[in-house]
Amino acid sequence: MTNVNVLISGASVAGPALAYWLHRHGFTPTIVERAPALRDGGYAVDFRGRAHLSVLRRMGVLDDIERARTGMGSMSYVDGAGRPQAKLPADLFSGDVEILRGDLARILYDATKEHTEYVFGDSVASLTEDADGVTVTFERGAPRRFDLVIGADGLHSTTRRLTFGPEERFVKHLGVYCAIFTTANHLGLDHTGHAYRTAGKLVAMYSARHNTEAKAVFYFGSPELGLDRRDVTRQQAVLAERFTGNGWQSDRLLRDMRYAPDFYFDSVAQVRMDAWSRGRVALVGDAAYCPSSLSGMGSGLALVGAYVLAGELAAADGDHRIAFARYEREMREYATGCQKMGDGVAKLMVPGSRLLASVLNRYYKVMPYLPGKNMAAVMARKAAENITLRDYS
Ligand SMILES: Cc1cc2nc3c(=O)[nH]c(=O)nc-3n(C[C@H](O)[C@H](O)[C@H](O)COP(=O)(O)OP(=O)(O)OC[C@H]3O[C@@H](n4cnc5c(N)ncnc54)[C@H](O)[C@@H]3O)c2cc1C
Repeated sequence: MTNVNVLISGASVAGPALAYWLHRHGFTPTIVERAPALRDGGYAVDFRGRAHLSVLRRMGVLDDIERARTGMGSMSYVDGAGRPQAKLPADLFSGDVEILRGDLARILYDATKEHTEYVFGDSVASLTEDADGVTVTFERGAPRRFDLVIGADGLHSTTRRLTFGPEERFVKHLGVYCAIFTTANHLGLDHTGHAYRTAGKLVAMYSARHNTEAKAVFYFGSPELGLDRRDVTRQQAVLAERFTGNGWQSDRLLRDMRYAPDFYFDSVAQVRMDAWSRGRVALVGDAAYCPSSLSGMGSGLALVGAYVLAGELAAADGDHRIAFARYEREMREYATGCQKMGDGVAKLMVPGSRLLASVLNRYYKVMPYLPGKNMAAVMARKAAENITLRDYS
């Protein structure tokens, strides 16, 4: 087999999943992760349908994931006084199994650490390809040679920028911003969430870690704001400008935001690319085909992408030209279907006018009594299952 030494950038979902499968097929993976250590906690992500669950089962991690599941129930839409107005079923948000992203990353790390070299606190700085491999320089460590480099470094992928060009060419803002952070569960939510929608805005709170804490979530509609991704002070100011006096728990959560240990703020966006590889470099997960944080598909898509990419490399005996082309062929339609879900949800999440917001709130009220009440969950499952996984063993 050729091209055995593979560098993966990113240790969240796609990166460790890829390392797991590469090792199983006889490759030697190394992972470089920018964060100084595994990032704990974070928001909830979910897996749904046959394809996601079967990859997790084949990796032997499904039981661990089940044990760490959030166990969330339904989600209520509330009015300004916090009175529940409508209930949305759990499987719409939580799929078949929901887990905090950090807990998932920990499980995947534990499943790979013995056979994968992990380098934390560093990042790829440059990639120079020649006929036999890629010379990689790092921000901190010494340069190294690898046969292949895979970018699993998320929506704002450095690997993608170095190989394909600036992010503006590939990242499509869906007209919504999202902020999320950990806060006290001061509403005493019991494995549930409350959401409050007004024109162009949505504030929500859901309990986490079996009610010992909560996540505060803010969504607002806006054209691209061009904010510096590292300028948390400015991001918090933007959020405060939009949500102060917005009603329900907005002001309380904005106060808590100042002390949050893990404030996250970003555009709800998709990655759209015509090709996911160039030469000896390929992308997987959000870096290649992020369906958006609102799609509920990103972690499953990243997982399936890692399975297919590693499998195709093995099937081609390490020949990256054959394998990368087949990876795209297997994954393209699947990824596009998942992205369609993301696009649709973004449009519905924060309708711009008061009228539309109130129509949607009313629709949610009567939805449990309508014949098509499970339509959104059924569509999400269909998109998540729309791939036939090859057996690469
Ligand atoms: C608020 C929010 C809510 C979400 N909700 C859901 C949900 O309900 N269901 C669902 O399925 N998905 C959800 N997602 C999406 C899901 O988290 C992603 O799709 C999934 O994590 C993609 O995995 P990934 O490994 O491709 O990328 P990421 O999880 O983004 O990981 C990228 C990794 O690369 C690292 N990295 C970045 N740059 C570098 C660099 N230069 N060098 C080295 N390492 C680097 C990062 O630190 C990170 O560890 C949500 C996302 C967000 C933001």
